[in-house]
Amino acid sequence: MNKERKLIIAGNWKMNKTVAESLDLVRGLKLDLSNVKEVDIVVCPPYTALCEVSKSILDSNIRLGAQNMSEHNVGAYTGEIAAVMLKEFSVRYVILGHSERRQYQKESNELISRKALAVHTASLKPIVCVGETLAEREAGEMEKVLETQVRGSLAGLSKEQMSETVLAYEPVWAIGTGKTASTAQAQEAHAFIRRLVGKIFDETVARRVRIQYGGSVKPANARELMSQPDVDGALVGGAALEVRSFADIIKSSI
Ligand code: PEP
Repeated sequence: MNKERKLIIAGNWKMNKTVAESLDLVRGLKLDLSNVKEVDIVVCPPYTALCEVSKSILDSNIRLGAQNMSEHNVGAYTGEIAAVMLKEFSVRYVILGHSERRQYQKESNELISRKALAVHTASLKPIVCVGETLAEREAGEMEKVLETQVRGSLAGLSKEQMSETVLAYEPVWAIGTGKTASTAQAQEAHAFIRRLVGKIFDETVARRVRIQYGGSVKPANARELMSQPDVDGALVGGAALEVRSFADIIKSSI
């Protein structure tokens, strides 16, 4: 597939997989995907598996991501994980502001923007998630919600930092529900987000930034979604938990 930006397809394993299960999954992916050069492949296991997965993917084309990170560098923050700890395992990407964290941990755009700055300060790359709920979409508020999230979650980033930030458009109604946005709906939202990045930063940044689509991506719909001009990859939940489906999503997107 001829794309303006290199595709980035990341698997968000959420709170799934023991260390042994993580190693099984990543071994299968390494075998199946060793020849893929056209796509940046990222796996985001739970923290407890980062160490072993990191060793297993050394010398492979698979990169490591974390599912969250503290805005703080060190100190009395029980249960939190700092950038320096992630870097020990050669983590490159950090998912921020996933809708599940916005919903269950009440993460605000302000907090996410502070985390995004901390991620960049540590020379890691954030994958910043945005997306509207079904009620917001049906009320005709999709653009307003996306604008508030994009402006708020990226506040304070420099143009250089923004160019290295990955955005993930994840309509909340499509996450884990089996409902996928149509390719037209996905392209429309991605184009809107890219125009917005152009307004907030500049056109060069907007052209460079990669925007993933997330929400029930499967082998059967990946190619069509990825063929949209403003869709630069996918953030995959459920289908990233099996070698076959995650590998097929990547291969069908090439
Ligand atoms: C996600 O949680 O980021 C996600 C897109 O999940 P799923 O693919 O299962 O909808």
